Amino acid sequence: MPNIKNMALQGLYRLGVPAILRRLPAPENSMTVLAYHAVTDDPSYALPGIRVTPRLFAQQIAHLVQHYTVVDLADALEQHAQGRPLPPRAVAITFDDGYLDNYTDAFGVLKAHRACATIFTTVDPVLDGGRFWVSWLYEVLLSERPAPALIDEVFGVRPEAGTEAAFNAISGVLNYCPRAEREVLLDRFAERLDPGATPPRMLNVAQMREMQAGGIRFGSHTLSHPILANIDHEERQLELRRSRARLIEALDRDVPLIAYPNGRAIPRNFDASVMADCRAAGYRAAVTSRRGPVTSGADAFAIPRMGVSQMGGIARFAVTLERFRAAARRSGKNGVGA
Ligand SMILES: [Zn+2]
Repeated sequence: MPNIKNMALQGLYRLGVPAILRRLPAPENSMTVLAYHAVTDDPSYALPGIRVTPRLFAQQIAHLVQHYTVVDLADALEQHAQGRPLPPRAVAITFDDGYLDNYTDAFGVLKAHRACATIFTTVDPVLDGGRFWVSWLYEVLLSERPAPALIDEVFGVRPEAGTEAAFNAISGVLNYCPRAEREVLLDRFAERLDPGATPPRMLNVAQMREMQAGGIRFGSHTLSHPILANIDHEERQLELRRSRARLIEALDRDVPLIAYPNGRAIPRNFDASVMADCRAAGYRAAVTSRRGPVTSGADAFAIPRMGVSQMGGIARFAVTLERFRAAARRSGKNGVGA
């Protein structure tokens, strides 16, 4: 649905404003890290805000390859940490969660453009083939439309009408649960709702290995997607250390990066103690859902990103990339090479 903001974005895009802005330099140690989730035409398992159609994705990657320098995130962050300059208009591509569509719908596009990317996988579902609770919950809420009384009975919440409201209310409970407790609640819900089996939604190891051979790197998104700032110490250690160890073993490759799982409307999904624990667990950097460019002062364990969704199409994507570079310019006034 068109709105004023989208019309303004379309106008800026058609007038060629992003093309003019791209000529302006940004500090040479800045970059933008894109955060994708699902790349699919199928609306059944991912919230609209974390979905991009394959057609728009192909347009976006073509745009990036034509006008920006796509860099490998781990390498670029290493360079950034050492104070070495990054290429002009550096952009890194990342995906969170580890959806199967990253293989079926995104990998071919990335390969065709020789664009590298990092996929942060929720490690237990991808390595064990079990349900990924976030997408499973959304999918069954959308398909089964459970009665409010049932949601209240199992999770103790009474959301407003609508699937997204139900999802937000229930995930608000589950985000704070230890793994075992969360699984008990979900099993109880599944038993009462009886939704039947859902199709596979997550990557598997064979696909990940094939993608790795094709230039894709993998990072941890924890074992089970909890809010790290809100779980107890032991549980957090397991989520950080075991996910990394399992990925290293499955892929035979170092895993230097992690993406913090985030919950909608949760103001703090990581804090100083989460950052310190990540460092101690052997990670060299962590990406977040905070919006902004990576600039000279960036903390390696609080790397901001630019979330990408279907909204606003290619115009919004092109304009937002340049808004991020403008923000980097402002923050780099006294930085290197501005
Ligand atoms: Zn996630």
